[in-house]
Amino acid sequence: MEKEPLYRKVNTRTRGVNHKNEPSYAQQRHSKALAAKEHQRGSMHSGKRLGLDYTPLFRFLLSRVGQPWDPVFSEAKSRLDRQEPIFWQVALHEHQQQDYVRLGHCAFYSGLYVDAQGLLQKVNPDLHAATMSPDCPCCTHTLNGVPFGLAYER
Ligand SMILES: [Zn+2]
Repeated sequence: MEKEPLYRKVNTRTRGVNHKNEPSYAQQRHSKALAAKEHQRGSMHSGKRLGLDYTPLFRFLLSRVGQPWDPVFSEAKSRLDRQEPIFWQVALHEHQQQDYVRLGHCAFYSGLYVDAQGLLQKVNPDLHAATMSPDCPCCTHTLNGVPFGLAYER
Protein backbone atom coordinates (compact mmCIF):
# COMPACT_ATOMS: atom_id res chain seq x y z
CA MET A 1 0.00 0.00 0.00
CA GLU A 2 1.38 3.38 -0.98
CA LYS A 3 1.50 5.89 1.87
CA GLU A 4 0.27 9.40 1.42
CA PRO A 5 2.79 12.17 0.85
CA LEU A 6 3.78 14.27 3.87
CA TYR A 7 2.97 17.53 2.11
CA ARG A 8 -0.01 18.95 0.34
CA LYS A 9 -0.55 21.41 -2.42
CA VAL A 10 -2.12 24.68 -1.38
CA ASN A 11 -3.87 27.39 -3.28
CA THR A 12 -1.50 30.23 -2.42
CA ARG A 13 -4.00 32.83 -3.54
CA THR A 14 -6.49 31.89 -0.87
CA ARG A 15 -4.12 30.51 1.78
CA GLY A 16 -1.87 33.58 2.07
CA VAL A 17 -1.36 34.86 5.61
CA ASN A 18 -2.47 38.45 5.90
CA HIS A 19 -2.28 40.30 9.18
CA LYS A 20 -4.73 43.03 9.77
CA ASN A 21 -2.07 45.08 11.48
CA GLU A 22 1.51 44.02 11.04
CA PRO A 23 3.01 45.41 14.26
CA SER A 24 5.83 47.88 14.06
CA TYR A 25 8.48 46.05 16.00
CA ALA A 26 10.69 49.12 16.25
CA GLN A 27 8.19 50.62 18.66
CA GLN A 28 7.89 47.59 20.85
CA ARG A 29 9.65 46.76 24.07
CA HIS A 30 13.08 45.22 23.95
CA SER A 31 11.62 41.86 24.93
CA LYS A 32 9.77 41.79 21.64
CA ALA A 33 12.93 42.05 19.57
CA LEU A 34 13.47 38.31 19.61
CA ALA A 35 9.89 37.68 18.62
CA ALA A 36 10.38 40.04 15.68
CA LYS A 37 13.37 38.03 14.52
CA GLU A 38 11.41 34.83 14.86
CA HIS A 39 8.60 36.44 12.95
CA GLN A 40 10.87 37.25 10.01
CA ARG A 41 12.49 33.85 10.00
CA GLY A 42 9.10 32.22 10.21
CA SER A 43 8.05 34.05 7.10
CA MET A 44 11.18 33.01 5.25
CA HIS A 45 10.67 29.37 6.16
CA SER A 46 7.00 29.69 5.50
CA GLY A 47 6.69 26.08 4.38
CA LYS A 48 4.32 27.24 1.71
CA ARG A 49 6.95 27.95 -0.92
CA LEU A 50 6.15 26.48 -4.29
CA GLY A 51 2.57 26.10 -3.14
CA LEU A 52 3.40 23.17 -0.87
CA ASP A 53 2.40 22.87 2.77
CA TYR A 54 4.51 20.60 4.98
CA THR A 55 2.13 20.49 7.93
CA PRO A 56 1.60 16.72 7.49
CA LEU A 57 5.40 16.21 7.74
CA PHE A 58 5.63 18.15 10.99
CA ARG A 59 2.72 16.20 12.46
CA PHE A 60 4.32 12.94 11.32
CA LEU A 61 7.68 13.80 12.93
CA LEU A 62 5.99 14.85 16.18
CA SER A 63 4.12 11.58 16.30
CA ARG A 64 7.45 9.73 16.11
CA VAL A 65 9.13 11.45 19.10
CA GLY A 66 10.89 8.80 21.23
CA GLN A 67 11.37 6.44 18.28
CA PRO A 68 14.65 5.51 16.51
CA TRP A 69 15.51 8.25 14.02
CA ASP A 70 16.87 6.16 11.14
CA PRO A 71 13.62 4.41 10.15
CA VAL A 72 11.65 7.62 10.77
CA PHE A 73 14.00 9.54 8.49
CA SER A 74 13.79 6.84 5.80
CA GLU A 75 10.02 6.88 5.83
CA ALA A 76 9.82 10.69 5.83
CA LYS A 77 12.20 10.91 2.83
CA SER A 78 10.19 8.35 0.90
CA ARG A 79 7.02 10.41 1.35
CA LEU A 80 8.48 13.82 0.42
CA ASP A 81 9.40 15.67 -2.75
CA ARG A 82 12.66 16.81 -1.11
CA GLN A 83 14.48 16.32 2.22
CA GLU A 84 15.03 19.94 3.21
CA PRO A 85 11.75 20.49 5.12
CA ILE A 86 12.67 17.66 7.52
CA PHE A 87 15.54 19.80 8.79
CA TRP A 88 13.37 22.83 9.34
CA GLN A 89 12.09 20.89 12.36
CA VAL A 90 14.87 18.41 13.16
CA ALA A 91 18.18 20.05 14.18
CA LEU A 92 21.25 18.33 12.78
CA HIS A 93 23.63 20.16 15.12
CA GLU A 94 23.32 21.21 18.73
CA HIS A 95 23.67 24.92 17.92
CA GLN A 96 20.68 24.66 15.57
CA GLN A 97 18.34 23.34 18.24
CA GLN A 98 15.29 25.52 18.79
CA ASP A 99 12.39 25.18 21.22
CA TYR A 100 10.01 25.64 18.34
CA VAL A 101 9.86 26.25 14.61
CA ARG A 102 7.14 27.97 12.64
CA LEU A 103 5.25 27.06 9.51
CA GLY A 104 3.98 30.36 8.20
CA HIS A 105 3.19 32.94 10.84
CA CYS A 106 0.88 31.25 13.31
CA ALA A 107 1.61 27.53 13.34
CA PHE A 108 4.34 26.65 15.84
CA TYR A 109 5.76 23.14 16.16
CA SER A 110 8.14 21.72 18.73
CA GLY A 111 11.76 21.77 17.57
CA LEU A 112 13.26 18.26 17.43
CA TYR A 113 16.72 16.69 17.57
CA VAL A 114 18.27 13.22 17.62
CA ASP A 115 19.72 12.24 21.00
CA ALA A 116 22.89 10.24 21.74
CA GLN A 117 20.87 6.99 21.63
CA GLY A 118 19.65 7.83 18.12
CA LEU A 119 16.10 8.61 19.25
CA LEU A 120 14.05 11.53 18.00
CA GLN A 121 13.36 13.97 20.88
CA LYS A 122 11.81 17.37 21.53
CA VAL A 123 14.37 20.12 22.19
CA ASN A 124 12.16 21.50 24.96
CA PRO A 125 9.63 18.96 26.26
CA ASP A 126 8.34 21.58 28.73
CA LEU A 127 7.04 23.90 26.01
CA HIS A 128 3.24 24.00 26.18
CA ALA A 129 0.63 25.95 24.22
CA ALA A 130 -1.16 26.79 27.48
CA THR A 131 1.68 29.10 28.57
CA MET A 132 2.40 30.74 25.20
CA SER A 133 1.07 34.09 23.92
CA PRO A 134 0.73 35.15 20.26
CA ASP A 135 2.90 37.95 18.81
CA CYS A 136 0.07 39.58 16.89
CA PRO A 137 -3.55 40.29 17.85
CA CYS A 138 -5.25 39.06 14.71
CA CYS A 139 -4.30 35.41 14.14
CA THR A 140 -4.97 32.22 16.08
CA HIS A 141 -1.56 30.84 17.05
CA THR A 142 -1.08 27.15 17.74
CA LEU A 143 1.66 24.89 19.09
CA ASN A 144 1.49 21.42 17.57
CA GLY A 145 -2.09 22.19 16.57
CA VAL A 146 -3.17 23.34 20.06
CA PRO A 147 -4.27 27.01 20.38
CA PHE A 148 -2.09 29.22 22.62
CA GLY A 149 -3.48 29.62 26.14
CA LEU A 150 -2.44 33.24 26.76
CA ALA A 151 -3.70 36.44 25.17
CA TYR A 152 -1.72 38.80 22.94
CA GLU A 153 0.23 41.39 24.95
CA ARG A 154 1.05 44.71 23.44
ZN1 LIG B 1 -1.72 38.30 12.77
